Amino acid sequence: MALDLVTIPCLTDNYAYLVHNAATGETALVDVPEAAPILAALQTRNWALHHILITHHHDDHIQGTAEIVAATGAKVTGARADAHRLPPLDHAVGEGDTVVIGGEACHILDVSGHSMGHIAFHFPASDLVFTADSLMALGCGRLFEGTPDVAYASLMKLAALPGDPWVCSGHEYTAGNARFAATLEAANPALISRIEGITAMRAKGLPTVPSRLSDERATNPYLRAHLPALKAAVGLPNAADTAVFAEIRARKDRF
Ligand code: ZN
Ligand code: FE
Repeated sequence: MALDLVTIPCLTDNYAYLVHNAATGETALVDVPEAAPILAALQTRNWALHHILITHHHDDHIQGTAEIVAATGAKVTGARADAHRLPPLDHAVGEGDTVVIGGEACHILDVSGHSMGHIAFHFPASDLVFTADSLMALGCGRLFEGTPDVAYASLMKLAALPGDPWVCSGHEYTAGNARFAATLEAANPALISRIEGITAMRAKGLPTVPSRLSDERATNPYLRAHLPALKAAVGLPNAADTAVFAEIRARKDRF
């Protein structure tokens, strides 16, 4: 039985997530932008919290951690490589580790780029991957710490995940990402129909996350730097994939 997923809007445009095993009652939280909406989501469902999974060190992903730990006693899991700038960790993990969360195997992927030490949590049995500010809906996080090479390798690792996981990312940036993607691939039918869906969801105030990895492969420009159409769109028809990715990301920074 797949884990239940709850998407929790936080702050102005952040998301936290709960995963819950209905058979065992075990619950995990991914990222802690602020405590109040997360505690409310737990109370509404009468769920206890057992695990906090942290993706990366930025304040908008960790700043409610102490309050949630104090309220619930949940144990904190985060990147060993980033332990010096994360809340105190009960479990330090890194690339290739497997932990058991909610009775399910959770694979740890290093997805550095936006920050170094950013990790993703992949639950293959439930087809969920928590990517925060690495791979985002129609986008990727700005490269604050990693080089384009590092960030592109991280995105390719996510793009190659088996099955078609739900990509649970950290922000509601999708409408802006869509406007930028349309400057590169205005004629991509998958992008055109996805943008229609995004526009409709945002008009109703609905989250555009999680998204399907197959939709990211078909429409997310940062996963498509290997394609001749994208290379041509940025005027680099013969460039290496990584150079095309770097140019796409640089254009978004100026967009
Ligand atoms: Zn961040
Ligand atoms: Fe963030």
